[in-house]
Amino acid sequence: MDETVKRLLEGDQRALSRLISLVERGDPRGAEVLAEVYPHTGKAYCIGVTGPPGVGKSTLVDRLAEVVRGQGLSAGIVAVDPTSPYSGGAFLGDRIRMQRHYLDPGVFIRSMATRDGSGGLPRIIRGAVRLLDASGKDVVMVETVGVGQTELGIMGVADTVIVILMPESGDIIQTLKAGIMEIADIYVVNKADREGANQMVVAITSMLAMATAPGDWTPPVLATQAHKNEGVLELYSNIQHHRDFLGRTSRLERRREERRAEEFLETIEEGISHRLKELMAKDLKLNSILERVKKGEMEPYSSALKLLDDATPLLKGLTSLPQP
Ligand code: GDP
Repeated sequence: MDETVKRLLEGDQRALSRLISLVERGDPRGAEVLAEVYPHTGKAYCIGVTGPPGVGKSTLVDRLAEVVRGQGLSAGIVAVDPTSPYSGGAFLGDRIRMQRHYLDPGVFIRSMATRDGSGGLPRIIRGAVRLLDASGKDVVMVETVGVGQTELGIMGVADTVIVILMPESGDIIQTLKAGIMEIADIYVVNKADREGANQMVVAITSMLAMATAPGDWTPPVLATQAHKNEGVLELYSNIQHHRDFLGRTSRLERRREERRAEEFLETIEEGISHRLKELMAKDLKLNSILERVKKGEMEPYSSALKLLDDATPLLKGLTSLPQP
């Protein structure tokens, strides 16, 4: 393993690919690798791109990658499709992309699909982004379909989040209400060659005007035509403005601090809940309590609290564990 990690830190794409697979599979060695590369992370800037299918995310991300490369920087792309039944393989779009960047070792592309709906995807994406960061990629872009809870979770890795819509995206007000509003730093109305693009820009802008507090970042609303490379440079410069804003106001560090804490606590929570389920499956006493709750012989709420009280010495034991 050490050799692969060493090669990853030297920027070797094959090592990068292998280690991402390790993390993706949930292999326990993945955690060791992440700990090992951790001191080499924190340099990459992460851009998240989300929006409904077909709005032009891939096209735009590819164009952005070209701009990044044009600046002499390297790029990593993680394309996530939480709805796709395929796993680990390349999608058609992926192969087309591969061809475009095939000869350029400065661009690394990886696509992922969900295997389970259990919320493991944000963990995998965080891991992949860290590995890309450690391998020396200057900019990492995470692209995901849709605007649901999973996507919001995935976008948690990004320093700048771009939400892409297009004139036919349907009821944008509904889309924006679905929680996207809080996470978008930049809005893009792609396919500006189609009718209704301007109205959409105006509608989003006026919604934002009501929602943004003074002193806060006001998300710009940009029109692009990704397939013709129009508006892409402007988008890139807006990403840089946002990055400068985060840096100037110390928000970048604060965002990252909060996310590290969140990741830590969420992982513990998930672990405890996982172990509890395992215990439930095996422990006879616990099972008989559960049965009685099921049958209505015990009141669920107070019984759960009582059980928690009984289990508290166990949790208290956590604080006496040796410091990592
Ligand atoms: P994604 O599903 O969001 O990743 O969308 P894609 O990037 O795969 O784009 C979907 C289709 O829209 C492709 O055929 C693109 O060539 C096309 N497309 C991308 N940008 C534009 C645009 O600005 N105008 C028009 N008319 N088509 C575009």
